[in-house]
Amino acid sequence: MPNCPSCEEQSLLPIQPLDGLVARQCASCEGMLLDLLVYRQWRESSAEALNQHQLSAEPQASGDSQATPEDTKQALLCPGCSRIMTKYRVTGELANRFDFCVHCSDVWMDVGELELLNTANLQGDLARIFTQPWQRQLVSDQQAQMGEANLASHLGSDLSKVEDFAGWLVAHAERTRIFAYLRARLRAGDED
Ligand SMILES: [Zn+2]
Ligand SMILES: [Zn+2]
Repeated sequence: MPNCPSCEEQSLLPIQPLDGLVARQCASCEGMLLDLLVYRQWRESSAEALNQHQLSAEPQASGDSQATPEDTKQALLCPGCSRIMTKYRVTGELANRFDFCVHCSDVWMDVGELELLNTANLQGDLARIFTQPWQRQLVSDQQAQMGEANLASHLGSDLSKVEDFAGWLVAHAERTRIFAYLRARLRAGDED
């Protein structure tokens, strides 16, 4: 039985976090190790059931149901092969990262992180998080956000005008013509 990567002392015991899905859990920190291949098989076989009733890990006790679960910040060693697990962002909004061993295809989730998938509406997407397209998209989202923040710092109150205009432009059927006209106007302005 592999040991818990987070508290390192406890062995991991089989559990079913979701109906029919087998994972291993640490009795001490309640973190969970999930084989992505097992998850994929489970996902495929339960795709229909999943559509009917959402992957519902029990909602947490009232009061702190909105609290973000604690994320392990330090690097974890894979319980299966003792290599360092890679941290993967889940979405641009969530600070929590999932630890993943590319060699064993095991995902480590700290306690409460499975429920995060529900909150972020990502139930069923767990496997996609660890793909290059998903991670690349996160990076480009982040760059776009930084670009917007940068623009805001330069434009100040003009930002909302620019946003309104951009929204109007991209929705316009003749946007290509309008854009060409604007570009010509701006060039002419530069030459003055
Ligand atoms: Zn533990
Ligand atoms: Zn491993």
